Amino acid sequence: MMRRLPIFFLIDVSESMVGEQIQLVEEGLATIIKELKSDPYALETVYVSILVFAGQSRTLVPLQEIISFYPPRFPIGGGTSLGNGLGHLMYEMRRNLIKTTSEQKGDWKPIVFLFTDGVPTDDTSAAIKEWKTNWQNQCNLVAVSFGAETDLHLLRELTEHVLLFKNTSAQSYKEFFRWVTASIKSSSESVDNNGSGFDLAKTNSDVISKVDFDNKPVPNKGYIDSNFAVFAAKCQNTKKPYLIKYRRDSQQSDLRDLDISTLSYRLVGAFPVDNSYFEFSSDASVSSKVSTDELVGFPACPSCGNQYGFAVCRCGKLHCVGNEKFTTCPWCGNQGEYGFSGSNDPININRTQG
Ligand SMILES: [Zn+2]
Ligand SMILES: [Zn+2]
Repeated sequence: MMRRLPIFFLIDVSESMVGEQIQLVEEGLATIIKELKSDPYALETVYVSILVFAGQSRTLVPLQEIISFYPPRFPIGGGTSLGNGLGHLMYEMRRNLIKTTSEQKGDWKPIVFLFTDGVPTDDTSAAIKEWKTNWQNQCNLVAVSFGAETDLHLLRELTEHVLLFKNTSAQSYKEFFRWVTASIKSSSESVDNNGSGFDLAKTNSDVISKVDFDNKPVPNKGYIDSNFAVFAAKCQNTKKPYLIKYRRDSQQSDLRDLDISTLSYRLVGAFPVDNSYFEFSSDASVSSKVSTDELVGFPACPSCGNQYGFAVCRCGKLHCVGNEKFTTCPWCGNQGEYGFSGSNDPININRTQG
């Protein structure tokens, strides 16, 4: 058997990825695999695994050769438990990697691509310590921040390869995944030539750039992902959950350190998720409220089409309402005549952790 070059993707699927972003990542991964299937070097050596993390972590695709690889669908969960995700990665590597012994040549150093778009919502210190002690020298980790709102210093603790991906358009995603594909191809080619087995392709700095920790100040971030505000809601009719996503208004983003109340968020959309959302979320309750007067635009219900997808029950949770005289909250069962649909006094609502 050829020595394998294992590639692990560890991908953040927290709420802020809901909608177009996660779809673009899904498509991007599918393109990578398709491209690699037609590359003779990659076909021989590259094995791929896909792991995802939100509040919990999960193996979507166990380590396998490219030829039998089928691109998965990605779940969405609540929270960004990077510590949990790293722990899961180390567990998968311990289980699956072939060590070199006197009888056999083991795997090449695995390459890990970590994609994250948020600030960790769990304590990462234990996982980072284990990473540094047992894994940092055993593999090549490439940490990619999607957008600027990650804790870059924390990623720097994991690896010297910290990159910033400006994920502004569908086109930038295409370019980004082309870069990942090219890096995997050149790494597998380098394996074939007895090189290091790790060779990142040249980056187009408009889309992806290496973070320069030495010469530029890199901001530290707080504990809530503030690029987006995402709210969990349930449909009154189908009882199914959906997520309502807002993007921070960029014109006001400069003011955020001065006066938090000047924040405003513009509606991106409402997206149905399945019930696995709850299993995949963390229990930790970080309470962070957004006032409804900071929100611009309210969605219809993506599950049943009810006109108002953003109604607040007495229990504090969100659900949809239509023209019915009496509503039943799908969270707490409370029945009543309706109050808020965006026009009354502002209400503070718990956002998710992102
Ligand atoms: Zn509905
Ligand atoms: Zn309720």
